[in-house]
Amino acid sequence: MSLGRGVAIFQSTIPTSSEGANRDSRHSHTSKSYADWRDQFATERLRLLYYLGLIANPVFIAADLLLHSEHLVSLILIRSILELGLLSCFFLLRRTTILKPTALVVLWVVIGNFCIVHMTVVLGGFTSTYYSGLNLVFLAAAVIVPISWPSHLIAQFACLAYYYGVNFLHDTASGSINAAIENSFFLVWTCVALLFSISLYERLQRAEFQARQSELNARRDLEASNQKLLDLDRLKSEFFANISHELRTPLTLTLGAFKTLLKLSPGVEHESLLQTGLRNTSRLLFMINELLDLAKFDSGRTQLRKRRVDLAVLIQNVAANFESSQKSRVHTKGLSQPVVIEIDPRQMKKVFYNLFSNALKFSDPEEGQIWIRVNVTERVVELDIEDNGIGIPPAQLQRIFERFTQVEGSASRRYEGSGIGLALAKEIVNLHGGTISVESEMGRGSTFTLKLPCGQVSNEDVLEMDDDEATVLPLASHTQNEEGTADIGSSQSEDNLPLVLVVDDNADMRRYLNRLLRPKFRIVVAKDGVEALEQARSIRPALILTDGMMPRMSGYDLLKVLRSEKSLRWIPVIFLTARAGTDAHVESLEAGADDYIAKPFDENELLTRVGNLIHTRAQEKELRELQKEKMAQFLPSHVADMIVSGDRDEFLNGHRAEISVVFVDLRGFTAYAETAQPEELMAVLKEYQSAIGKIVSQFNGTLERFSGDAIMIFFNDPMPVPNHMEQATRMALAMRERLEQLASHWNTRGIKLGAGIGLAAGYATLGVIGFEQRHDYAAIGRVTNLAARLCSEAQHGQILVCEKFLQGVEDVVDSESAGKLTLKGFEQARHVYNIIRLKEG
Ligand code: ADP
Repeated sequence: MSLGRGVAIFQSTIPTSSEGANRDSRHSHTSKSYADWRDQFATERLRLLYYLGLIANPVFIAADLLLHSEHLVSLILIRSILELGLLSCFFLLRRTTILKPTALVVLWVVIGNFCIVHMTVVLGGFTSTYYSGLNLVFLAAAVIVPISWPSHLIAQFACLAYYYGVNFLHDTASGSINAAIENSFFLVWTCVALLFSISLYERLQRAEFQARQSELNARRDLEASNQKLLDLDRLKSEFFANISHELRTPLTLTLGAFKTLLKLSPGVEHESLLQTGLRNTSRLLFMINELLDLAKFDSGRTQLRKRRVDLAVLIQNVAANFESSQKSRVHTKGLSQPVVIEIDPRQMKKVFYNLFSNALKFSDPEEGQIWIRVNVTERVVELDIEDNGIGIPPAQLQRIFERFTQVEGSASRRYEGSGIGLALAKEIVNLHGGTISVESEMGRGSTFTLKLPCGQVSNEDVLEMDDDEATVLPLASHTQNEEGTADIGSSQSEDNLPLVLVVDDNADMRRYLNRLLRPKFRIVVAKDGVEALEQARSIRPALILTDGMMPRMSGYDLLKVLRSEKSLRWIPVIFLTARAGTDAHVESLEAGADDYIAKPFDENELLTRVGNLIHTRAQEKELRELQKEKMAQFLPSHVADMIVSGDRDEFLNGHRAEISVVFVDLRGFTAYAETAQPEELMAVLKEYQSAIGKIVSQFNGTLERFSGDAIMIFFNDPMPVPNHMEQATRMALAMRERLEQLASHWNTRGIKLGAGIGLAAGYATLGVIGFEQRHDYAAIGRVTNLAARLCSEAQHGQILVCEKFLQGVEDVVDSESAGKLTLKGFEQARHVYNIIRLKEG
């Protein structure tokens, strides 16, 4: 009756629910399953119950013999009927479709107890102790088949009714009645207790069943999705294998074509193009082979073809790929003696190639070095590959051996690479029974250690390395002089071509772009952001065409710096990156790039886009100059600059500042204007305004406006002037001198004109006013009124200031009092002073 057993049965009998069925259908499914399970559980237990009945019944004949031998025949007869009844039901039990298990429980109890009732009749009615047999039957049925309390209730009710009914019919003596009452206590309470127990037990079972059912469903879902993932992974590997295989054929043929063409002694230019093609095709083929190898590892199809090999020669062969003629960067130790070992040379070549190329790739292009050390012991060949490169963060040391993994968040993300190399190297080394590990220090370098088991290998029949042509290793890109770079201004006709700065860390790509753009532009190249920034600062190119991912400084970082520097901000930038897709596009434009082109690109499209952008930028510049020129007719040139560049829009829109205001006006001009000829009047005004205009720009004042003979100039805005009061005074003195000359000149022509000047300092609101076609830079405040009033009070040759202004300049000028004046618009009379001259010395 253990729960555990029940659960075990249910696990084996629950029908599978269909995948993806919703919760409701699952719920109804659960109840149905519970009913099924309960029936099966009951059937198994019923078998036990019937066995028990069939065995116990004859055994009790012994008790009959001992206790009631006088009624033995009747008792045996009843027991025979009982045995027969049980046997017939047992037969029915084996064919459960005829009767439900609950009915069979009821039958078992009823048959057993009806026979016991007849035994009590034979043995003295209610006084017979055989009535305890009834309890025994109730108990056995409830304990062994604890399901469906209503069935047990029906059986109990029928049995008790039969017991009391039959015995009352046979025996109504008063002693019997007492015995009947006494027996009832035990019988009824046993039945009630059993019914409770069955009901509680069944509730517990149902809850347990449902919990198990949900757990099972969840496990089944998980298994289904695991299976799906496994299928997907298998499909992916198969696809990889197929597509890589398909790609290999055309690439191998292309490689062959390049090699054949190179043997036909092409010219220098063509040879260089063919070399580029050969180098990059071999690189592509190498990467595709790596993918194919990974797929093979996944499917377990990789088999090593071990040969007896001189490891020293193998390593030297691979290392030779990385040596350039100019400078030795690869240093070896322990390779002078043969190191004979049994390995698969083709696979091992790939391991060495990956380790050596990483060591150089993640090191400084100029200073990077690698040291290869081989140490042979009796059982192991140990190989160290050390570099002095950028290093690997400790937290990432294990991750880098996982597939498609590149060190995150560090500069190495900017290097080209697929993240396959080390994963593949690890698989190959492990397949050889060896290990690969790494130690590294950030900024100082990394050491990869490879241990390969060797054992005793004879030096005979060692494979000649030249035999193995099958492993295609990418050819190294030798540093050639960049063609045609930095030839700024090399010939007269090229001088006029726009200058384009090409930035890419891949030398082949730089050469290719150079060749492509050279007919239409002058080209300068840089191999990373740092170099590009230096170039941009010194040569100010018309456009920058940059790769995104580069060592030292990426294209994105370069763009950030360009946009933050005022003198470089205007340079248009086109991103040329291998990262295709809308995200990369949006990212580039958001970073501030003017355009974005994904590799591989159409040559004509690239040329057109570069040309268009340069042309548009030049037109914009021209337009700005034109606008500035126009504005400068009406505005001080620095204000015009500000408006056109859009640099300080907020500032120009209105702000408060302390300024010095100079107001100049001609004396006798109204009278003269009434009598003079318009042409003559215009000529006089022109002479006057041009003389004043020159002095204003000489002293860096801001000319607010000419209105007839009145001119207003202010200082300290928009360009700050540290000692603006003194500067304004010096300008006023210079003006007075010039106006003296003009006045005597006009006098000789019979024109009687003089000029007065007013000076004041204080706070005003300043900004650009007007509309698109006509702007003015205006100052509004009491200070301008004060200067205008002082000017109108000034006699010819006078420069009038108030006391406050004089205090600001009295160290530099001599002055005299001009009395106390009540100025229009100002309530109190003020002491006014005339500035005579600059102080001596
Ligand atoms: P990848 O194609 O990116 O070079 P690998 O599997 O060969 O892929 O290397 C995985 C990553 O491990 C690299 O992207 C790099 O971040 C790091 N790594 C490998 N070798 C070195 C090294 N010698 N120095 C610094 N980092 C390295």
